[in-house]
Amino acid sequence: MEKKIYSLRTNVGYFYNRPIGYTKAFHQEYDEIFIQPDLNLKDLVVDFTLSRTREGLLMRAQLSAKVDMQCARCLIDYYAPIACEFEELYAFLERYQEETDEETVPEDGYIDFGKLFRDYLLIELPMNSTCSPDCKGICMECGQNLNESECEHTDSRVKYD
Ligand SMILES: [Zn+2]
Ligand SMILES: [Zn+2]
Repeated sequence: MEKKIYSLRTNVGYFYNRPIGYTKAFHQEYDEIFIQPDLNLKDLVVDFTLSRTREGLLMRAQLSAKVDMQCARCLIDYYAPIACEFEELYAFLERYQEETDEETVPEDGYIDFGKLFRDYLLIELPMNSTCSPDCKGICMECGQNLNESECEHTDSRVKYD
């Protein structure tokens, strides 16, 4: 699939000059997006607010998307819905003369949210996800996708309850 790469960089520099408590809402939608280095999403919907605090910016975000997964039973590729909600604090750099582990607002005032979104979405990736709850899987003998048709190895078939 062709990768659709969009920048998730957002200008937040003007928050410096806003009063504490100033809040702005952001809404973004992408039919398809590839987040470096490995996350391919469809129907990404991003809603977040940024609030000016004493220390920096408080982000409250809600994301939903469909992620390219492989069914653990029949091995087809399909899109699984995922969603997450989180808060993140971006500190203003001048508050930290020394090294800090916190996320900081870059000097140019642009935050690239790609890595953050990827980190939170990856936590939500389903383990052993299946294309449907009653996916029949594949035949261990001949590899037939049993959702599509039966095969002659019904006795040796792995059963899923
Ligand atoms: Zn399946
Ligand atoms: Zn078979």
